[in-house]
Amino acid sequence: MFDYSGCIHMHSEYSFDGLRTPEEIISSANSCGLDYIIITDHFSLEAKKYEGWHRNTLLIAGEEISPNKNHYLAFNIDKAVIADRTESNPQNYIDDVNRAGGFGFIAHPDHIGNRKFGVNPYTWINWDITGYSGFSVWDLQTDWQETLKGPLTAVMSYLFPAYFLKGPKKETLERWDKINIGAEQLKYGIGEIDNHEAVKKYFKFIKAKIFPFDVAFRTIRTHILLEEPLSRKKEDIGRVLEALRLGSSYISNDYFADPKGGFVFKVSKGKVSVRVPRRALIKIIKDGKKIIEKISDGIEISGAEKGIYRCEIFLKKYFYHPWIFSNPIRMD
Ligand SMILES: [Zn+2]
Ligand SMILES: [Zn+2]
Repeated sequence: MFDYSGCIHMHSEYSFDGLRTPEEIISSANSCGLDYIIITDHFSLEAKKYEGWHRNTLLIAGEEISPNKNHYLAFNIDKAVIADRTESNPQNYIDDVNRAGGFGFIAHPDHIGNRKFGVNPYTWINWDITGYSGFSVWDLQTDWQETLKGPLTAVMSYLFPAYFLKGPKKETLERWDKINIGAEQLKYGIGEIDNHEAVKKYFKFIKAKIFPFDVAFRTIRTHILLEEPLSRKKEDIGRVLEALRLGSSYISNDYFADPKGGFVFKVSKGKVSVRVPRRALIKIIKDGKKIIEKISDGIEISGAEKGIYRCEIFLKKYFYHPWIFSNPIRMD
């Protein structure tokens, strides 16, 4: 398999709260070694004119449909889907995206913001929905904002965000497993950074860019796995998006170690196996329950029963940090 890493969900100057031009974002993505990025401006596809390869990074434009609640990332559409800011039924725009031939992922479903730091909550409220491909399992901003307790933790976690990240939220993972058990079509996960590089002011004296793209791009990435290498032509856009839609991908925090090419998770005919490029804490989850936990560079289970399997990997750097989260695979 060919492993390509990228970052999903970021805002350019085409968003009211974005700052950077697509060219500046591309330049950061190039220097961070990203194979692809997906810019998702609020109700806008203006970044589409930059779609394509820029040196070693493929730029893809999606849209963040972002009313007051229920933010949705729409991919593979030609025109922005505009919803009213007060629209409270996300099924309407999920359907609009599907009708336009696109697909989408729920953004930062368990974002609760941080009142002390003036960050409003943008939670996904309405779960009585169909027709979406999956949701964000791990969002840099959701995770990071919850680490902010006071001025000191704010400064430390700003300087060393990767050390403070706690990983996907428990309620997000539990909901993911619950939705997938018994589902006809599995819902897949993506990682997102929801980065703006906007300047924020905290406690009157702290002024910071959240985050410089050079920092955010080194954290939560979504790796896609392809049978054939990318061709470096425009058709690659469709191939990257299709891999995300079909869950041929995994999420990782690449700050401590980039697992590119070294992470393998296989589930078939009674066998479940995991390989990681470094010795780490491996957990295998079956139908929402952890069935094995081991420190190793791989695990193999034979005689495994039918069910939905995924794995979680934690890497030790002083203490264990969340590292890799696979997509679910069903064993029939
Ligand atoms: Zn949002
Ligand atoms: Zn956003």
